[in-house]
Amino acid sequence: MLATIASNEAPVAETHAEALWHQALGLHRSAIVVDGHNDITSAMTDDGYDLATPSTGKHHTDLPRLRKGGVSALFFAIYVDNKFVISNTATRRALAVIDATHREIERHPNDLVLCTTASQIRAAKQSGRIAALLGAENGAAIENSLATLRAFHRLGVCYLTLTHMQATTWADASTAPSLHNGLTDFGKSVVREMNRLGMMIDVSHVSDKTMSDVLDLSTAPIIASHSSARALAPHPRNIPDDLLKRIAKNGGVVMVNFYPAYIDSRISIILEQLEPELDAIRTQWREQPARSRAERRKLMEEKIPVTPLSVVIDHIEHVIKIAGIDHVGLGSDFDGISIVPANLSDVSMFPNVTYELLRRGHSEEAVRKILGENFLRVFAEVEHCGTAKADHISGGH
Ligand SMILES: [Zn+2]
Repeated sequence: MLATIASNEAPVAETHAEALWHQALGLHRSAIVVDGHNDITSAMTDDGYDLATPSTGKHHTDLPRLRKGGVSALFFAIYVDNKFVISNTATRRALAVIDATHREIERHPNDLVLCTTASQIRAAKQSGRIAALLGAENGAAIENSLATLRAFHRLGVCYLTLTHMQATTWADASTAPSLHNGLTDFGKSVVREMNRLGMMIDVSHVSDKTMSDVLDLSTAPIIASHSSARALAPHPRNIPDDLLKRIAKNGGVVMVNFYPAYIDSRISIILEQLEPELDAIRTQWREQPARSRAERRKLMEEKIPVTPLSVVIDHIEHVIKIAGIDHVGLGSDFDGISIVPANLSDVSMFPNVTYELLRRGHSEEAVRKILGENFLRVFAEVEHCGTAKADHISGGH
């Protein structure tokens, strides 16, 4: 009798999983799926990498896998490394990455369309194309010039991440010593100008005090384009609960980062121990960045345990618990990270997030919000705030 029950149960369980997969895929394909931060732009800019070329094993991102992963909108990171800041070529570098991204979009008009508003993202989905968006990462890219900030915005840059790993001359970062105790007066004028323009302020990478200063000042909702929850992993790149609550109050959205070194506290400890070896590889292969990356990846794959997908979902659920279901999204950081979670190892795997959220009992409406609707709401509100202010300044209502 027991044997009969057991043999009856197995197919039932399998059918349940299959039905859930069917539901997850249907939901995923119809939803707007937004990835707040992707770094494939470095390969596009430096190596002339064509997104249409399948690159499994080398990069996390290509067009076939974006299609497979049901990605509706992707933020291409206009990332400016600190070495360009040191050599006083930060704006030139940003322009090179903006140009490479525009050229990639122009090269694939049937797959990609440049979008600068929330409604354009919805239209892109309708037309069967992936919405391509630009987000500048590192406030140093504007070289202390609001004119440059405005010019970036006109070139289609929808958000500016105020810092990267280092402080800028006007904002402190989470991973470097404080130089300004948050935002300087010029930093505050950057925030005000972004509000006026209707440009999203991205607080990923900034220090807690900078984030707090932005929240004190911004009249529009803000975003964290690729940040997770510090209560679950004590990395400074993650956001503490008090600031998650304030982002909720501000109406913003926290787009959860997938990087195991940030989200899995076991990994950050091991990575710290590995740092001298990683540094030795960086020095040894200084003239060959690709070889350096490959050697470091090999070492990390040998020494670091794989983080399960469930850890990413735990971070999403923590943001929901503290900030609410209306304030969470996804910001993979793919192609900017050296290791990835299991079953979330490239852009084709986004449906696994949808499946896992449904499996944990989240409603279809909740999952749609997480996948993209929360971000779209924030984007539309920021545009609206910007337009309202511009009207005011030009003498309108
Ligand atoms: Zn980043």
